[in-house]
Amino acid sequence: MRVEERVELSRFTTLGTGGPARAFARPEREDELLALLRDARERGLAVATVGLGSNLLVADEGVDALVLKLAGDLAAVHTAGDSRIVAGGGAANAVVLHHARNAGLGGFEFACAIPGTIGGGVWMNGGAYGGDFAAVLTRVQVATADGSGWLTPAELGLSYRHSELRHGQVVLAAELQLHERDPAEIKAEVRELNARRKAAQPTNRRTFGSVFKNPDHELTAGRMLEACGLRGHRIGGAQISPKHANFIENADGATTADAIALMVEARRRAFEQYGVELRHEVELLGAIELPALG
Ligand SMILES: Cc1cc2nc3c(=O)[nH]c(=O)nc-3n(C[C@H](O)[C@H](O)[C@H](O)COP(=O)(O)OP(=O)(O)OC[C@H]3O[C@@H](n4cnc5c(N)ncnc54)[C@H](O)[C@@H]3O)c2cc1C
Repeated sequence: MRVEERVELSRFTTLGTGGPARAFARPEREDELLALLRDARERGLAVATVGLGSNLLVADEGVDALVLKLAGDLAAVHTAGDSRIVAGGGAANAVVLHHARNAGLGGFEFACAIPGTIGGGVWMNGGAYGGDFAAVLTRVQVATADGSGWLTPAELGLSYRHSELRHGQVVLAAELQLHERDPAEIKAEVRELNARRKAAQPTNRRTFGSVFKNPDHELTAGRMLEACGLRGHRIGGAQISPKHANFIENADGATTADAIALMVEARRRAFEQYGVELRHEVELLGAIELPALG
């Protein structure tokens, strides 16, 4: 299995920022993945997996770890009978949805506007339009240096945009329980959801999706930041989206440090104006920290 050194991770994040990984590999089969995990453990090297990097801020200095990107069999999709689909952790949601529609299986439509993979969706318990991964998962195959096994959604500790998974645990595959549905109906619903998304969010810009989780407050994170006057606020090459204030765009040559500086400012203003401590939804990889408020 080829392991590359110092691969620029900006190529693998939707924001287009981030420095190099100390080591990088694209396993295509379970045995390759397990060998990589064992080897990393022997070398004392941390392991992290990237999907489509659509919820990821990678440190500009890079990541001192073996970074994995699942491919081949580990990104394949199969129909498994009883309206179930088994998808590799590296399979893009769009590919899984396409497969489900062709098989006449509904229930995964909510993921049409989540531009990630199955692995990232499980890790984040991704969701939209009232649906989420927790609602469709029956079991998830997780690999570590000790081998692989299937976990139930309860064992993954899924809650709002959260799982108990930790780096070094790799989502190899997930089994989804769907239900029979006319492909034409699926297509119509996906078209409608995508149109709603396009109207509300900067879908044609380089972003990483929602920056902050919605707080326990009458205002969503986006509305709160908008009320704080942050729409269009820019630091370096990064800008709070003029269309939706809970998105950060790579306006022109942004760095991760620019995005973090915007997040710090957004948290400061939300705290001062509303007494709310916004918590980030985006995953941070490498030596990045958001300073405590106050
Ligand atoms: C325009 C846009 C709209 C979005 N809309 C939504 C939305 O409506 N709802 C929503 O929930 N999210 C949304 N997102 C965020 C993002 O798409 C989701 O969080 C998605 O599930 C991330 O998947 P990914 O494969 O890109 O993961 P990445 O961003 O690559 O990684 C996210 C986390 O998952 C881990 N990970 C990824 N793959 C694996 C694996 N195989 N095994 C173990 N860990 C893994 C990574 O280490 C990281 O910690 C949006 C993003 C964008 C850019």
